[in-house]
Amino acid sequence: MLGPRKLTVSNSMNEPKNTDNVDPHELEKFEQIAEHWWDQNGEFKPLHQMNPIRANFIDERSPVAGLKVLDIGCGGGILCEALAQRGAKVTGIDLGEAPLQVAKTHADQQSLNILYKKISAEAFAQQHAGEFDIVTCLEMLEHVPEPASIVQACNQLLKPGGHGYFSTLNRNPKSWAMAVVGAEYVLGLLPKGTHDYQKFIKPSELGAMVRRAGLQTQQLAGITYNPIMQSFSISADDVSVNYILHAQKPNL
Ligand code: SAH
Repeated sequence: MLGPRKLTVSNSMNEPKNTDNVDPHELEKFEQIAEHWWDQNGEFKPLHQMNPIRANFIDERSPVAGLKVLDIGCGGGILCEALAQRGAKVTGIDLGEAPLQVAKTHADQQSLNILYKKISAEAFAQQHAGEFDIVTCLEMLEHVPEPASIVQACNQLLKPGGHGYFSTLNRNPKSWAMAVVGAEYVLGLLPKGTHDYQKFIKPSELGAMVRRAGLQTQQLAGITYNPIMQSFSISADDVSVNYILHAQKPNL
């Protein structure tokens, strides 16, 4: 996981190649279910349920109105829309064809002006280094072969003093029980096979990726699920399953 950075090469059409930091099998999972992205009770119900609290978390630490925000692995645009509604100038990138199509159509329906593009984080970083006030990458790092390379790209994309937000799943018996067995098999919240436990990332590992990329961790917080209330909340200390890390790029 913390091994050498993979070389990233994109052709002129920005189509992923084998050398990209992408797992085609992971992308395929999202292609299959993309049409249900905005169904509040469908496969993406957990993302809808956690969206207000994560959007608040970001907006409280770096008020987004008027700022340039990039969302990496944006999928159908759930976070992009929430931030655009708060006045951010949002760009969303992903390598999935169907999720991006869904995102574009939905933003149009909502009359939201969001720029969506199919391109890898690494390739986008080469074109837009230092352009963004905020870069978000939520519930995506556990789906890529080299998460450290994405974190590096985030650092490159940020302006000095800019804010980075990363959320993912911790790797321990409890997160396996909750995110894989519970969510996929018992509650049926997510399609079976959505998550590959081996790719879950411990907070210490994400912290190391952030540090090596040149970012400074500001805060680590849990995103905890209450099955009785069927709602998520931010927890100051329980990072055992899902968690979010706020980092900042040092000022020059
Ligand atoms: N960040 C969104 C969607 C999370 S689902 C949210 O939290 O609401 C994970 C997304 O990551 C999917 O849209 C999938 O297509 C995308 N993805 C997976 N691997 C990727 C990669 N290597 N590069 C860019 N996006 C990727």
